[in-house]
Amino acid sequence: MNKQHTYCSENKERFLHELIELLKMPSVSADSAFSQDVFDTAEAVSAYLQAAGCDGVEICETRGYPIVYGEKIIDPALPTILVYGHYDVQPPDPVELWNSPPFEPVIQKTILHPEGAIFARGASDDKGQMFMHIKALECMLRTDTLPCNVKFMIEGEEEVGSSSLEAFLLENQEKLKNDIILISDTGIIANDVPSVTTGLRGLCYVEVTVTGPNRDLHSGLYGGAVANPINILAEMIAALHDENNRVTIPGFYDNVEELSAEERRLMAEAPFDLEAYKNALNINAVYGEAGYVTNERNS
Ligand SMILES: [Zn+2]
Repeated sequence: MNKQHTYCSENKERFLHELIELLKMPSVSADSAFSQDVFDTAEAVSAYLQAAGCDGVEICETRGYPIVYGEKIIDPALPTILVYGHYDVQPPDPVELWNSPPFEPVIQKTILHPEGAIFARGASDDKGQMFMHIKALECMLRTDTLPCNVKFMIEGEEEVGSSSLEAFLLENQEKLKNDIILISDTGIIANDVPSVTTGLRGLCYVEVTVTGPNRDLHSGLYGGAVANPINILAEMIAALHDENNRVTIPGFYDNVEELSAEERRLMAEAPFDLEAYKNALNINAVYGEAGYVTNERNS
């Protein structure tokens, strides 16, 4: 371990400088105005992978933004780890709420970060983490301490639904073959509580248009006789959950995996302070607690 620590402290300033350069690149995948920046960031990531000592570095074209690949195979008999990350970032809007410009990284000490942290769009999602893994490889290669094979797959469309990823995975199964996938694109409970995420909630949304009469209606003449589209929409949204907060859409839970007793036990062990949680959100009660505001329905 000592060799690695020495290497990291000797190179800390360079690592910081390189990460800050990466964070300056506005790789906003959701906004086509930044399209060239997203492509440029893919180039930068590939250069960092190469500099770290990766072989076979490629900027793999997709129908959207490219996926950057690199690998270090030291012995095919050893296990292989695949590091997933993304180099695109969320749009920074609303910009006026930033204390410093989103693409001009600054290091600041705060109550949450007494030793200082980098503030910039993408610093914690996901350039910082992805860069950490690249530098970990560099460190282990330079100190001759790499214990396994490593592959990197860094995409540029995570913030817009990863639409090219599935096809890339299907087309490159041999190349991407691995024993463990390592993803650092989730949160940790606290800085001193290492956390492993074993599952994530999905996201599903639809756009619904409710149409009504052909003009604005006077409440005195039509109220009660003609349904107001806003009321109908509100009823539709409210009916998506029952009184126990379960989703009422038929088939919704068909493919949802039940947590095992062991998983529930482990989750219950994670430190959690309900009062702190409520205070942080400025709410009086959470679902199921006395005082929780329920959306009672008369149906
Ligand atoms: Zn992310």
